[in-house]
Amino acid sequence: MAVCVFDTNDRTLLWNDTFLQFFPEHAGHVYAGEDYRENLRRFYLRRLPEDELSGMERYIEEGIHRHRHQQRAFEFDHYDYRVRVASLSLGAFGRIRLWRKTAPLLTGMQDRISPKQVQLPNQISADTVMALESLADGILMVDTQDRAVWANRSFLVLYGLPDIESLNTRMFGDIYIATWEHKQPTPDFATGLSVLKERQRFSGAPYVLALPQDRWVRVVELRGTQANGYSFFSHVDITDSRRQQEKLRQLTMHLESLAVKDALTNLVNRRRFDEVLDSEWRRMLRSESTLSLLMLDVDHFKRLNDTFGHPFGDEVLKCFATLLSHCVQRTGSLVARYGGEEFAVLLPNTDLPGAAKLAEFIRQQVENMALGNEKTRLVRITVSIGAACVSGSELDLSSSTLIDRADRALYQAKEKGRNRVVLANT
Ligand code: GH3
Ligand code: MG
Ligand code: MG
Repeated sequence: MAVCVFDTNDRTLLWNDTFLQFFPEHAGHVYAGEDYRENLRRFYLRRLPEDELSGMERYIEEGIHRHRHQQRAFEFDHYDYRVRVASLSLGAFGRIRLWRKTAPLLTGMQDRISPKQVQLPNQISADTVMALESLADGILMVDTQDRAVWANRSFLVLYGLPDIESLNTRMFGDIYIATWEHKQPTPDFATGLSVLKERQRFSGAPYVLALPQDRWVRVVELRGTQANGYSFFSHVDITDSRRQQEKLRQLTMHLESLAVKDALTNLVNRRRFDEVLDSEWRRMLRSESTLSLLMLDVDHFKRLNDTFGHPFGDEVLKCFATLLSHCVQRTGSLVARYGGEEFAVLLPNTDLPGAAKLAEFIRQQVENMALGNEKTRLVRITVSIGAACVSGSELDLSSSTLIDRADRALYQAKEKGRNRVVLANT
């Protein structure tokens, strides 16, 4: 039995010698703490033909998904054997994967079975046929050479086949392609074809295929290990549950974005800013780079509210936020509404002169921004900005230091008369 244990972040924790015998590609490479993705990458590099290498990253992600969500054992062809793999959750600890050889490969047995012996559906009893016919799921039976020999009505309906003769001992892949004939092929169909190709290598794991008209089917294979070698595939229409899942996913994404976005300006909120600051801080320490922060506060904003009303103040904040987003273009930079009329701009890999340059540019843009409507006439605002920078060599600091420094610089900018940029001295 080959054994490998992973933690909850899919990192390899421990494995036994049999694991290395089963998967010699890992010997000398796998190490404690290694991401399971690296393990899968070696597995696929060894197995994939050149023309499929471009799909490897997707196979790896699917492998990760299989690993995390596997509930029942499945089998796959591995060198000369079929291997059965089970994955059990260890709760908070992670997951254990167990492999054992079940039988020599069926391809090896095919020589021993003459095609004449294949007689179906006579070999399944009338009772069995009746039971299979009463299932809502599609059932397909294939022989040792993967030719379709029998299917129940649900299967025929699912794939638009008129009768059992139309199976015509075709391979399932051909039946699948025929379902898409005269239909507009979609990217999901292309994915379906590559899933089928992958399945030939990795048969046994359940997989999902797209059907025309945005329908979806989940296929589970049960390989026979008896001498007759017949295999059953169940084909379950999962269109409805997929739609619900998709709705749920969108809803979750929407809720998540609500939780981190400020409703008025559409910028990220303080909460998200704190999270990003934390991760950028750690990245800065790791890579010994620099991290800069601008703290911005609109000048005399209370006066503006008092003069023109709160709704107009809101409009000004929206315009200010849009302008700020346009000024900060570099990927990785983050513009956040810190609170009220205070904003923050986080600038990874930026030194103090770089931050100062951007701050001065923003200050000028704000000064030149024309606001107002018929009632208010032309309104102009100004902004005070404090800029601070830390570098990875200042190891003993914490991320709040950066905020403190920028805050103090901002306070000085206000003190000195507003509408200006002050750089924090470190
Ligand atoms: P300073 O130049 O010193 O920054 O003066 P200020 O008036 O801008 O500063 P103060 O902190 O005294 O006032 C900030 C005002 O911003 C008070 C608050 O009502 C207003 N404000 C905060 N959030 C919002 C908002 O979402 N919409 C509007 N319209 N006003 C807001
Ligand atoms: Mg303020
Ligand atoms: Mg203010």
